[in-house]
Amino acid sequence: MSMAIGHFAAGAGAAFAVVHLLPPTVRRKLPNYGVLGILSGVWAMLPDLCNFIPLLVGFHNSRWANIFFLHYSMDFIIDPRDSILASAVLVGFMMTLMLILLADDFWERYPKPLQMLSTFRLQKGTSSVISRQICQNSDSKPNENTRKGA
Ligand SMILES: [Zn+2]
Repeated sequence: MSMAIGHFAAGAGAAFAVVHLLPPTVRRKLPNYGVLGILSGVWAMLPDLCNFIPLLVGFHNSRWANIFFLHYSMDFIIDPRDSILASAVLVGFMMTLMLILLADDFWERYPKPLQMLSTFRLQKGTSSVISRQICQNSDSKPNENTRKGA
């Protein structure tokens, strides 16, 4: 038996790995792969519902449970002693893939590190042009406000 968090991490990590292997054009069309990771993690934990529904024990102990991200293999072959280390490795695997996906997203949006800086400079230059125009307009009609006040 593996820990529940180990099953969750295996499912979510596998989903993140598949998403990472997709071409960027397809990946961008996915609505939210964080939700996909959570759903995959929950899917990987489903055979453990036998702890609450004894009718499912037969399914949990059969190889059919491998449909749920190798649940049977994790419980009876890979990690039969419920070790913390195995679950920690799986959580590390999931977190690493998640960070890689986040980094990929960032570099796809900002392919050049200096692009952010140049965008900032453009905005700064635009604002100075606007402020210059405001100054010129106020210079052309210098006494308009003072006339209203007077
Ligand atoms: Zn199990």
